[in-house]
Amino acid sequence: MAKECLACKHLENPRFEILRTTNWNVVLDTNQAYFGRAYVTLLTHKARLSDLTDEEWQEYAEIVRRLERAYKDLYGADPLNWGCYMNNAFREMPFNPHVSWHVYPRYEKAPEMDGIIFDDPLFGEFYDEHAKRVVSDSTVGHIAAQLIDYLSIH
Ligand SMILES: [Zn+2]
Repeated sequence: MAKECLACKHLENPRFEILRTTNWNVVLDTNQAYFGRAYVTLLTHKARLSDLTDEEWQEYAEIVRRLERAYKDLYGADPLNWGCYMNNAFREMPFNPHVSWHVYPRYEKAPEMDGIIFDDPLFGEFYDEHAKRVVSDSTVGHIAAQLIDYLSIH
């Protein structure tokens, strides 16, 4: 583990994990401003996308296929917005980025879970990175359980 890497620390004890492959981990965020908001984190500490092996890219492609299908089938999400930024690793020296992807599912029709309507008022536009909707651990757990179920057979 690289020193002072929040991603490596996160990987030691990930909460709300919905998928783990040979090279990647996928978890839900507790901020569910975008229903199903997730992170896809490389299990190995690597600083940039150009460091990925072909195997890591192939597995990432498979995760994209599986998550896009799961979110669309279960909740009608389309598209998923994918981004690899790592900007928070560049706020303080020494810079120590770790490859991870942000997943923002987008919804024309708001999904509902535990009586909460997860609307997406900026649908068709760039997502609002500052939007907050912190729901209970129990609700995040319900979303995770459905995705885990789906992904276990798809
Ligand atoms: Zn790391």
